[in-house]
Amino acid sequence: TTTQCSVLIVGAGISGISAAKLLAENGVKDVVILEAADRIGGRIRKEEFGGVTVELGAGWIAGVGGKQSNPVWELARQSNLRTCFSDYSNARYNIYDDSGKIFPSGIASDSYKKAVESAIRNLRNEDSNREADVSVLAETPTVPKTPIELAIDFILHDFEMAEVEPISTYVEFGEREFLVADERGYEYLLYKMAENFLFTSEGKILDSRLKLNKVVRKLQHSKNGVSVKTEDGCIYEANYIILSVSIGVLQSDLISFKPPLPKWKTEAITNCDIMVYTKVFLKFPHKFWPCGPEKEFFIFANERRGYYTFWQHMENAYPGSNILVVTLTNGESKRVEAQSDQQTMKEAMEVLRKMFGPDIPDAITILVPRWWNNRFQRGSYSNYPIHINHQLIDDIKAPLGRIYFTGEHTNKKFNGYVHGAYLSGIETSEALLEEMRTEKERNGGNQNFL
Ligand code: FAD
Repeated sequence: TTTQCSVLIVGAGISGISAAKLLAENGVKDVVILEAADRIGGRIRKEEFGGVTVELGAGWIAGVGGKQSNPVWELARQSNLRTCFSDYSNARYNIYDDSGKIFPSGIASDSYKKAVESAIRNLRNEDSNREADVSVLAETPTVPKTPIELAIDFILHDFEMAEVEPISTYVEFGEREFLVADERGYEYLLYKMAENFLFTSEGKILDSRLKLNKVVRKLQHSKNGVSVKTEDGCIYEANYIILSVSIGVLQSDLISFKPPLPKWKTEAITNCDIMVYTKVFLKFPHKFWPCGPEKEFFIFANERRGYYTFWQHMENAYPGSNILVVTLTNGESKRVEAQSDQQTMKEAMEVLRKMFGPDIPDAITILVPRWWNNRFQRGSYSNYPIHINHQLIDDIKAPLGRIYFTGEHTNKKFNGYVHGAYLSGIETSEALLEEMRTEKERNGGNQNFL
Protein backbone atom coordinates (compact mmCIF):
# COMPACT_ATOMS: atom_id res chain seq x y z
CA THR A 1 0.00 0.00 0.00
CA THR A 2 1.14 3.53 -0.73
CA THR A 3 0.24 6.48 1.50
CA GLN A 4 0.75 10.06 0.41
CA CYS A 5 1.17 13.13 2.55
CA SER A 6 2.79 16.52 2.61
CA VAL A 7 5.47 15.85 5.25
CA LEU A 8 6.74 12.56 6.62
CA ILE A 9 8.36 12.54 10.05
CA VAL A 10 10.54 9.60 10.97
CA GLY A 11 10.67 9.08 14.73
CA ALA A 12 8.26 9.99 17.52
CA GLY A 13 10.79 11.07 20.14
CA ILE A 14 10.51 14.57 21.56
CA SER A 15 12.14 16.19 18.48
CA GLY A 16 9.77 14.45 16.04
CA ILE A 17 6.74 15.36 18.13
CA SER A 18 7.79 18.99 18.59
CA ALA A 19 8.49 19.27 14.84
CA ALA A 20 5.04 17.85 14.01
CA LYS A 21 3.33 20.15 16.51
CA LEU A 22 4.91 23.27 15.00
CA LEU A 23 3.92 22.18 11.48
CA ALA A 24 0.33 21.57 12.63
CA GLU A 25 0.20 24.99 14.32
CA ASN A 26 1.21 26.51 11.00
CA GLY A 27 -1.48 24.77 9.02
CA VAL A 28 0.51 21.77 7.80
CA LYS A 29 -1.73 19.05 9.15
CA ASP A 30 -1.16 16.53 6.39
CA VAL A 31 1.75 14.78 8.09
CA VAL A 32 2.48 11.14 8.84
CA ILE A 33 4.75 10.19 11.74
CA LEU A 34 6.46 6.81 11.35
CA GLU A 35 7.82 5.35 14.58
CA ALA A 36 9.81 2.11 14.67
CA ALA A 37 8.98 1.22 18.27
CA ASP A 38 5.55 0.34 19.66
CA ARG A 39 5.41 3.57 21.63
CA ILE A 40 6.31 7.23 21.38
CA GLY A 41 9.09 8.85 23.43
CA GLY A 42 12.30 7.34 22.03
CA ARG A 43 15.00 8.03 24.58
CA ILE A 44 12.39 9.28 27.03
CA ARG A 45 11.09 6.05 28.44
CA LYS A 46 9.61 4.92 31.70
CA GLU A 47 9.21 1.44 33.10
CA GLU A 48 7.58 0.02 36.21
CA PHE A 49 10.28 -1.37 38.46
CA GLY A 50 10.14 -2.45 42.08
CA GLY A 51 6.77 -0.79 42.60
CA VAL A 52 7.66 2.64 41.18
CA THR A 53 8.17 4.32 37.81
CA VAL A 54 11.80 4.60 36.77
CA GLU A 55 13.23 6.45 33.79
CA LEU A 56 15.48 4.29 31.60
CA GLY A 57 16.48 7.21 29.39
CA ALA A 58 16.39 10.90 30.25
CA GLY A 59 15.85 11.37 33.99
CA TRP A 60 16.67 14.98 34.76
CA ILE A 61 15.51 18.35 33.58
CA ALA A 62 18.91 19.98 33.44
CA GLY A 63 19.35 23.74 33.52
CA VAL A 64 16.78 25.34 35.82
CA GLY A 65 16.81 28.48 37.95
CA GLY A 66 18.60 30.88 35.62
CA LYS A 67 17.48 34.14 34.09
CA GLN A 68 16.07 32.39 31.06
CA SER A 69 13.59 29.58 31.50
CA ASN A 70 14.30 26.12 30.12
CA PRO A 71 11.38 25.34 27.77
CA VAL A 72 11.21 21.75 29.04
CA TRP A 73 10.91 23.04 32.61
CA GLU A 74 8.01 25.19 31.38
CA LEU A 75 6.33 22.13 29.83
CA ALA A 76 6.87 20.22 33.09
CA ARG A 77 5.29 23.01 35.10
CA GLN A 78 2.28 23.23 32.81
CA SER A 79 1.78 19.47 33.16
CA ASN A 80 2.36 19.44 36.93
CA LEU A 81 5.08 16.88 36.46
CA ARG A 82 6.43 15.72 39.81
CA THR A 83 10.15 16.46 40.12
CA CYS A 84 12.74 16.58 42.91
CA PHE A 85 15.75 18.79 43.25
CA SER A 86 18.89 16.79 42.74
CA ASP A 87 22.45 17.89 43.46
CA TYR A 88 25.28 15.63 42.47
CA SER A 89 27.99 18.06 43.39
CA ASN A 90 27.90 16.42 46.85
CA ALA A 91 28.94 13.08 45.39
CA ARG A 92 32.61 13.98 45.86
CA TYR A 93 32.17 13.95 49.65
CA ASN A 94 30.78 10.41 49.63
CA ILE A 95 33.64 8.53 48.02
CA TYR A 96 34.16 5.01 49.34
CA ASP A 97 37.39 3.07 49.03
CA ASP A 98 37.72 -0.69 48.53
CA SER A 99 37.42 -1.35 52.24
CA GLY A 100 34.29 0.73 52.79
CA LYS A 101 35.97 3.79 54.29
CA ILE A 102 34.79 7.21 53.16
CA PHE A 103 37.64 9.46 52.05
CA PRO A 104 37.97 12.42 54.45
CA SER A 105 36.38 15.52 52.90
CA GLY A 106 39.76 17.34 52.84
CA ILE A 107 41.38 14.65 50.69
CA ALA A 108 38.32 14.40 48.47
CA SER A 109 38.07 18.13 47.83
CA ASP A 110 41.84 18.41 47.26
CA SER A 111 41.75 15.61 44.69
CA TYR A 112 38.73 17.22 43.09
CA LYS A 113 40.39 20.62 42.89
CA LYS A 114 43.52 19.11 41.38
CA ALA A 115 41.48 17.16 38.81
CA VAL A 116 39.59 20.31 37.77
CA GLU A 117 42.81 22.31 37.50
CA SER A 118 44.42 19.58 35.46
CA ALA A 119 41.42 19.32 33.13
CA ILE A 120 41.50 23.11 32.61
CA ARG A 121 45.24 22.94 31.93
CA ASN A 122 44.77 20.13 29.42
CA LEU A 123 42.10 22.10 27.62
CA ARG A 124 44.32 25.20 27.49
CA ASN A 125 47.12 23.05 26.11
CA GLU A 126 44.80 21.81 23.42
CA ASP A 127 43.81 25.41 22.68
CA SER A 128 47.36 26.67 22.37
CA ASN A 129 48.35 23.63 20.32
CA ARG A 130 45.56 24.29 17.92
CA GLU A 131 46.39 27.95 17.64
CA ALA A 132 50.13 27.36 17.25
CA ASP A 133 49.47 24.30 15.13
CA VAL A 134 52.16 22.27 16.89
CA SER A 135 51.79 18.72 18.01
CA VAL A 136 53.91 18.96 21.15
CA LEU A 137 51.98 19.68 24.31
CA ALA A 138 53.01 22.78 26.22
CA GLU A 139 52.80 20.74 29.43
CA THR A 140 52.44 17.02 29.91
CA PRO A 141 48.84 16.27 30.85
CA THR A 142 48.32 14.78 34.29
CA VAL A 143 47.12 11.21 34.09
CA PRO A 144 44.85 9.99 36.91
CA LYS A 145 46.27 6.86 38.56
CA THR A 146 44.96 6.21 42.06
CA PRO A 147 41.39 4.93 42.63
CA ILE A 148 40.19 8.30 43.94
CA GLU A 149 41.80 10.15 41.02
CA LEU A 150 40.23 7.71 38.58
CA ALA A 151 36.81 8.07 40.23
CA ILE A 152 36.96 11.86 40.07
CA ASP A 153 38.22 11.79 36.50
CA PHE A 154 35.21 9.64 35.62
CA ILE A 155 32.75 12.06 37.23
CA LEU A 156 34.36 15.08 35.60
CA HIS A 157 34.62 13.67 32.11
CA ASP A 158 31.79 11.17 31.77
CA PHE A 159 29.19 13.30 33.52
CA GLU A 160 29.89 16.94 33.09
CA MET A 161 32.63 19.42 32.63
CA ALA A 162 30.68 22.39 33.95
CA GLU A 163 33.47 23.29 36.35
CA VAL A 164 36.04 23.04 33.61
CA GLU A 165 34.25 24.74 30.73
CA PRO A 166 30.99 26.68 30.64
CA ILE A 167 28.13 24.52 29.31
CA SER A 168 25.39 26.44 27.47
CA THR A 169 22.59 24.59 29.29
CA TYR A 170 23.76 25.80 32.70
CA VAL A 171 24.89 29.23 31.51
CA GLU A 172 21.56 30.00 29.81
CA PHE A 173 19.00 28.16 31.92
CA GLY A 174 20.62 27.97 35.36
CA GLU A 175 22.62 25.44 37.30
CA ARG A 176 19.91 23.47 39.04
CA GLU A 177 18.75 20.01 38.02
CA PHE A 178 15.49 18.27 38.80
CA LEU A 179 14.91 14.55 38.73
CA VAL A 180 11.61 13.54 37.18
CA ALA A 181 9.76 11.35 39.70
CA ASP A 182 6.28 11.02 38.31
CA GLU A 183 4.22 7.85 37.86
CA ARG A 184 3.18 9.14 34.43
CA GLY A 185 6.84 9.38 33.44
CA TYR A 186 8.90 12.06 31.70
CA GLU A 187 7.04 10.92 28.55
CA TYR A 188 3.87 12.53 29.86
CA LEU A 189 5.28 15.79 28.43
CA LEU A 190 5.16 14.23 24.97
CA TYR A 191 1.56 13.10 25.39
CA LYS A 192 0.60 16.61 26.48
CA MET A 193 2.27 18.04 23.38
CA ALA A 194 0.67 15.43 21.12
CA GLU A 195 -2.79 16.25 22.52
CA ASN A 196 -2.53 19.66 20.88
CA PHE A 197 -2.52 18.34 17.37
CA LEU A 198 -3.34 14.62 17.37
CA PHE A 199 -6.60 12.96 18.29
CA THR A 200 -6.29 11.44 21.77
CA SER A 201 -8.67 9.76 24.16
CA GLU A 202 -8.08 8.67 27.76
CA GLY A 203 -4.34 9.27 27.55
CA LYS A 204 -3.97 7.29 24.33
CA ILE A 205 -3.10 8.66 20.91
CA LEU A 206 -5.68 7.34 18.45
CA ASP A 207 -4.76 9.48 15.45
CA SER A 208 -4.03 7.61 12.22
CA ARG A 209 -1.29 10.11 11.39
CA LEU A 210 0.88 8.46 14.06
CA LYS A 211 1.99 5.03 12.89
CA LEU A 212 3.77 2.80 15.41
CA ASN A 213 5.87 -0.29 14.60
CA LYS A 214 6.90 1.26 11.27
CA VAL A 215 10.61 0.77 10.76
CA VAL A 216 11.87 2.91 7.87
CA ARG A 217 14.47 0.92 5.89
CA LYS A 218 14.69 2.64 2.49
CA LEU A 219 14.59 6.31 1.66
CA GLN A 220 14.46 7.42 -1.95
CA HIS A 221 14.74 11.12 -2.71
CA SER A 222 14.78 13.36 -5.73
CA LYS A 223 14.12 16.98 -6.50
CA ASN A 224 10.43 16.18 -6.82
CA GLY A 225 9.78 14.34 -3.59
CA VAL A 226 10.64 11.53 -1.22
CA SER A 227 9.47 8.00 -0.78
CA VAL A 228 10.20 5.56 2.02
CA LYS A 229 9.69 1.86 2.45
CA THR A 230 9.14 0.33 5.86
CA GLU A 231 10.19 -3.11 7.06
CA ASP A 232 6.65 -4.41 6.65
CA GLY A 233 6.62 -3.39 2.97
CA CYS A 234 4.50 -0.21 3.17
CA ILE A 235 5.38 2.80 1.04
CA TYR A 236 4.94 6.42 2.03
CA GLU A 237 5.39 9.32 -0.36
CA ALA A 238 5.72 12.97 0.56
CA ASN A 239 6.95 16.35 -0.54
CA TYR A 240 9.39 16.52 2.38
CA ILE A 241 10.75 14.29 5.10
CA ILE A 242 12.04 15.11 8.58
CA LEU A 243 14.44 12.49 9.91
CA SER A 244 14.70 12.54 13.70
CA VAL A 245 16.54 9.25 14.19
CA SER A 246 19.59 9.33 16.47
CA ILE A 247 23.15 9.83 15.29
CA GLY A 248 23.74 6.17 16.18
CA VAL A 249 21.00 5.09 13.77
CA LEU A 250 22.39 7.37 11.04
CA GLN A 251 25.79 5.72 11.54
CA SER A 252 24.24 2.24 11.26
CA ASP A 253 22.85 0.70 8.09
CA LEU A 254 19.22 0.64 9.27
CA ILE A 255 18.14 3.18 6.65
CA SER A 256 19.56 3.03 3.12
CA PHE A 257 19.44 6.17 1.01
CA LYS A 258 18.94 6.29 -2.71
CA PRO A 259 20.84 8.15 -4.08
CA PRO A 260 23.34 7.65 -1.24
CA LEU A 261 24.11 10.54 1.10
CA PRO A 262 26.99 12.71 -0.17
CA LYS A 263 30.44 12.40 1.35
CA TRP A 264 30.29 15.66 3.36
CA LYS A 265 27.17 14.34 5.08
CA THR A 266 28.39 10.80 5.79
CA GLU A 267 31.73 12.12 7.02
CA ALA A 268 30.05 14.49 9.43
CA ILE A 269 27.79 11.68 10.68
CA THR A 270 30.74 9.32 11.19
CA ASN A 271 32.77 11.97 13.01
CA CYS A 272 30.19 12.55 15.71
CA ASP A 273 30.93 10.57 18.87
CA ILE A 274 28.21 8.67 20.65
CA MET A 275 28.02 8.35 24.38
CA VAL A 276 26.57 5.19 25.86
CA TYR A 277 25.09 5.88 29.27
CA THR A 278 23.37 3.16 31.23
CA LYS A 279 21.41 3.39 34.44
CA VAL A 280 21.27 -0.02 36.14
CA PHE A 281 18.46 -0.28 38.70
CA LEU A 282 18.65 -2.60 41.72
CA LYS A 283 15.80 -3.26 44.15
CA PHE A 284 16.54 -4.37 47.74
CA PRO A 285 14.42 -5.75 50.57
CA HIS A 286 15.57 -2.86 52.77
CA LYS A 287 17.95 0.12 52.84
CA PHE A 288 21.54 -0.22 53.99
CA TRP A 289 22.94 3.05 52.65
CA PRO A 290 22.94 6.46 54.33
CA CYS A 291 20.02 8.66 53.33
CA GLY A 292 20.45 12.00 55.09
CA PRO A 293 20.99 15.36 53.43
CA GLU A 294 23.69 15.42 50.75
CA LYS A 295 23.82 11.63 50.57
CA GLU A 296 21.78 11.06 47.41
CA PHE A 297 24.90 10.26 45.38
CA PHE A 298 27.93 8.22 46.32
CA ILE A 299 31.03 6.97 44.60
CA PHE A 300 33.05 3.79 44.57
CA ALA A 301 36.77 4.38 43.96
CA ASN A 302 38.40 1.45 42.26
CA GLU A 303 41.56 0.90 40.24
CA ARG A 304 39.37 0.21 37.23
CA ARG A 305 38.01 3.46 35.83
CA GLY A 306 34.23 3.60 35.59
CA TYR A 307 33.69 0.21 37.28
CA TYR A 308 30.37 0.67 39.13
CA THR A 309 31.62 4.11 40.13
CA PHE A 310 28.59 6.38 40.32
CA TRP A 311 25.65 5.49 42.59
CA GLN A 312 22.37 7.14 43.47
CA HIS A 313 19.63 6.13 45.89
CA MET A 314 16.00 6.78 44.99
CA GLU A 315 14.75 7.62 48.48
CA ASN A 316 14.39 11.34 47.67
CA ALA A 317 12.29 10.55 44.61
CA TYR A 318 10.38 7.60 46.05
CA PRO A 319 10.79 7.18 49.83
CA GLY A 320 10.71 3.53 50.88
CA SER A 321 11.37 2.26 47.37
CA ASN A 322 14.72 0.67 48.41
CA ILE A 323 16.15 1.19 44.94
CA LEU A 324 19.74 2.01 44.00
CA VAL A 325 20.88 3.15 40.56
CA VAL A 326 24.42 2.71 39.30
CA THR A 327 25.49 4.53 36.16
CA LEU A 328 27.86 2.99 33.65
CA THR A 329 29.21 4.57 30.49
CA ASN A 330 30.77 3.64 27.17
CA GLY A 331 33.01 0.52 27.46
CA GLU A 332 31.44 -0.59 30.74
CA SER A 333 27.94 -0.05 29.31
CA LYS A 334 28.73 -2.17 26.27
CA ARG A 335 30.33 -4.89 28.39
CA VAL A 336 27.33 -5.09 30.71
CA GLU A 337 24.85 -5.03 27.82
CA ALA A 338 26.56 -8.11 26.40
CA GLN A 339 26.40 -10.19 29.57
CA SER A 340 23.51 -11.68 31.54
CA ASP A 341 21.71 -9.47 34.05
CA GLN A 342 22.52 -12.11 36.68
CA GLN A 343 26.25 -11.53 36.09
CA THR A 344 25.75 -7.75 36.34
CA MET A 345 23.86 -8.20 39.60
CA LYS A 346 26.73 -10.34 40.94
CA GLU A 347 29.32 -7.69 40.04
CA ALA A 348 27.23 -4.88 41.51
CA MET A 349 26.72 -6.85 44.74
CA GLU A 350 30.46 -7.45 45.07
CA VAL A 351 31.05 -3.71 44.79
CA LEU A 352 28.28 -2.87 47.26
CA ARG A 353 29.68 -5.40 49.78
CA LYS A 354 33.06 -3.68 49.52
CA MET A 355 31.39 -0.39 50.41
CA PHE A 356 28.80 -1.53 52.96
CA GLY A 357 30.13 -4.83 54.33
CA PRO A 358 29.37 -8.52 53.76
CA ASP A 359 26.04 -8.58 55.58
CA ILE A 360 23.95 -6.47 53.23
CA PRO A 361 21.06 -8.30 51.54
CA ASP A 362 21.14 -9.44 47.93
CA ALA A 363 19.20 -7.38 45.42
CA ILE A 364 15.75 -8.79 44.63
CA THR A 365 15.60 -7.61 41.02
CA ILE A 366 17.71 -5.79 38.47
CA LEU A 367 16.91 -3.74 35.37
CA VAL A 368 19.57 -3.17 32.72
CA PRO A 369 18.54 -0.94 29.78
CA ARG A 370 20.34 -1.71 26.52
CA TRP A 371 20.60 1.53 24.54
CA TRP A 372 23.68 0.40 22.62
CA ASN A 373 22.13 -2.81 21.30
CA ASN A 374 18.78 -1.20 20.53
CA ARG A 375 18.81 -0.90 16.75
CA PHE A 376 16.49 2.12 16.94
CA GLN A 377 19.00 3.98 19.14
CA ARG A 378 22.59 2.66 18.99
CA GLY A 379 23.75 4.70 21.95
CA SER A 380 22.46 7.27 24.40
CA TYR A 381 23.34 10.67 23.00
CA SER A 382 25.75 12.62 20.83
CA ASN A 383 28.97 13.71 22.41
CA TYR A 384 30.68 16.52 20.59
CA PRO A 385 34.12 17.52 21.79
CA ILE A 386 34.28 20.55 24.12
CA HIS A 387 35.92 22.54 21.32
CA ILE A 388 33.31 21.67 18.81
CA ASN A 389 34.09 22.08 15.18
CA HIS A 390 31.05 24.07 14.13
CA GLN A 391 31.27 22.88 10.55
CA LEU A 392 30.73 19.31 11.77
CA ILE A 393 27.42 20.03 13.46
CA ASP A 394 26.31 22.37 10.64
CA ASP A 395 26.88 19.51 8.18
CA ILE A 396 24.99 17.02 10.35
CA LYS A 397 22.04 19.39 10.52
CA ALA A 398 22.04 20.74 6.96
CA PRO A 399 19.03 19.67 4.87
CA LEU A 400 19.72 17.63 1.80
CA GLY A 401 17.22 18.58 -0.87
CA ARG A 402 13.91 17.46 0.59
CA ILE A 403 15.40 15.65 3.57
CA TYR A 404 15.49 17.65 6.82
CA PHE A 405 17.51 16.44 9.79
CA THR A 406 16.48 17.00 13.38
CA GLY A 407 17.07 15.60 16.86
CA GLU A 408 19.27 16.22 19.86
CA HIS A 409 22.45 15.77 17.78
CA THR A 410 21.54 18.68 15.48
CA ASN A 411 21.36 21.24 18.27
CA LYS A 412 24.54 23.24 18.51
CA LYS A 413 24.02 24.64 21.98
CA PHE A 414 22.08 21.93 23.78
CA ASN A 415 22.94 18.64 22.09
CA GLY A 416 22.56 15.60 24.32
CA TYR A 417 19.64 17.04 26.28
CA VAL A 418 15.85 16.74 26.16
CA HIS A 419 15.55 20.52 25.69
CA GLY A 420 18.12 20.29 22.86
CA ALA A 421 15.95 17.72 21.09
CA TYR A 422 12.76 19.69 21.76
CA LEU A 423 14.22 22.94 20.40
CA SER A 424 15.76 21.18 17.39
CA GLY A 425 12.32 19.94 16.32
CA ILE A 426 11.02 23.51 16.39
CA GLU A 427 14.03 24.88 14.51
CA THR A 428 13.82 22.21 11.82
CA SER A 429 10.12 22.81 11.23
CA GLU A 430 10.70 26.56 11.07
CA ALA A 431 13.30 26.00 8.34
CA LEU A 432 11.00 23.62 6.50
CA LEU A 433 8.04 26.02 6.68
CA GLU A 434 10.25 28.71 5.19
CA GLU A 435 11.23 26.35 2.36
CA MET A 436 7.58 25.41 1.76
CA ARG A 437 6.64 29.09 1.47
CA THR A 438 9.45 29.65 -1.02
CA GLU A 439 8.40 26.61 -3.03
CA LYS A 440 4.82 27.83 -3.06
CA GLU A 441 5.96 31.20 -4.43
CA ARG A 442 8.10 29.47 -7.05
CA ASN A 443 5.08 27.47 -8.17
CA GLY A 444 2.83 30.52 -8.30
CA GLY A 445 0.84 29.55 -5.20
CA ASN A 446 -0.30 26.23 -6.52
CA GLN A 447 0.63 24.10 -3.57
CA ASN A 448 -2.15 22.92 -1.35
CA PHE A 449 -0.35 22.64 1.93
CA LEU A 450 -0.18 26.14 3.30
P1 FAD B 1 14.86 9.97 20.07
O1 FAD B 1 14.17 10.10 21.37
O2 FAD B 1 15.85 8.87 19.94
O3 FAD B 1 13.74 9.83 18.93
C1 FAD B 1 14.02 9.22 17.69
C2 FAD B 1 12.94 8.18 17.39
O4 FAD B 1 13.22 7.60 16.12
C3 FAD B 1 12.91 7.01 18.38
O5 FAD B 1 11.64 6.93 18.94
C4 FAD B 1 13.25 5.78 17.53
O6 FAD B 1 12.55 4.63 17.93
C5 FAD B 1 12.81 6.24 16.15
N1 FAD B 1 13.49 5.54 15.04
C6 FAD B 1 14.80 5.18 14.96
N2 FAD B 1 15.03 4.57 13.77
C7 FAD B 1 13.85 4.54 13.10
C8 FAD B 1 13.45 4.04 11.83
N3 FAD B 1 14.33 3.46 11.00
N4 FAD B 1 12.16 4.16 11.45
C9 FAD B 1 11.26 4.76 12.27
N5 FAD B 1 11.59 5.27 13.48
C10 FAD B 1 12.87 5.16 13.90
N6 FAD B 1 18.63 14.35 28.52
C11 FAD B 1 18.36 15.24 29.51
O7 FAD B 1 17.99 16.38 29.24
N7 FAD B 1 18.47 14.87 30.83
C12 FAD B 1 18.87 13.63 31.20
O8 FAD B 1 18.94 13.31 32.39
C13 FAD B 1 19.20 12.69 30.19
N8 FAD B 1 19.61 11.45 30.51
C14 FAD B 1 19.71 10.50 29.54
C15 FAD B 1 19.96 9.18 29.91
C16 FAD B 1 19.97 8.17 28.97
C17 FAD B 1 20.23 6.75 29.41
C18 FAD B 1 19.70 8.48 27.61
C19 FAD B 1 19.64 7.39 26.58
C20 FAD B 1 19.47 9.79 27.23
C21 FAD B 1 19.48 10.82 28.18
N9 FAD B 1 19.23 12.15 27.84
C22 FAD B 1 19.03 13.08 28.84
C23 FAD B 1 19.15 12.58 26.43
C24 FAD B 1 17.72 12.70 25.91
O9 FAD B 1 16.99 11.56 26.28
C25 FAD B 1 17.76 12.83 24.40
O10 FAD B 1 18.59 13.92 24.04
C26 FAD B 1 16.39 13.06 23.74
O11 FAD B 1 15.37 12.31 24.34
C27 FAD B 1 16.51 12.73 22.26
O12 FAD B 1 15.31 12.97 21.57
P2 FAD B 1 15.28 12.85 19.99
O13 FAD B 1 13.90 13.16 19.57
O14 FAD B 1 16.40 13.60 19.41
O15 FAD B 1 15.63 11.31 19.69
